[in-house]
Amino acid sequence: MKMEINKDIERILFTEKELSTIADNIAGQINTDYKGKELLVVGVLKGSVIFLADIFRRLSLDCRLDFITASSYGSGYESSGRIIIKKDIDTDIKGKHLLLCEDILDTGNTLFYLRQNLIDRGAESVRICALLDKPSRRQKPVTPDYYGAQVPDEFVVGYGLDYDERYRNLPYIGILKPEIYM
Ligand code: 5GP
Ligand code: MG
Repeated sequence: MKMEINKDIERILFTEKELSTIADNIAGQINTDYKGKELLVVGVLKGSVIFLADIFRRLSLDCRLDFITASSYGSGYESSGRIIIKKDIDTDIKGKHLLLCEDILDTGNTLFYLRQNLIDRGAESVRICALLDKPSRRQKPVTPDYYGAQVPDEFVVGYGLDYDERYRNLPYIGILKPEIYM
């Protein structure tokens, strides 16, 4: 597919086909682990939506879907330790099994806060599903229960992940040319 934003990408990390295989594998694990249980999938907006759509359609469980938006104080593309919920879920989560679905686990600040917040509000269990994991940047003790791949400390875009709200519509994941953000 020809897209005019392709020219801003330095290198492709995961092709559409590889992302589809990742979704197959993760959904397969979730289907096995939650067999016979009800699951509430909570997508962290906005970055998770494309990945989430691919995972959710592959689930054969009795499941529901909700969304949450978190925001952190501080600048640009790194989250600070202070997280606030900007848009909350609408579902009563008492006694429910939750799966938090996120695009990338970076410092861990966002998911560390969200997981604790949902547990404090009575969720029976909260697991984390992140498409990508950047373990080298972690500041909080949080690891994904399900993840697609680990990535080095480089800024990636596409398949839901943005730079300044752009590039989410790329069907693959790539590394942005440095001149775009410099
Ligand atoms: P954390 O709280 O784990 O530091 O931040 C997670 C959020 O930071 C992600 O949901 C994502 O919005 C953003 N982020 C971290 N690394 C990247 C990256 O390489 N590319 C993009 N587009 N966003 C990132
Ligand atoms: Mg995000």
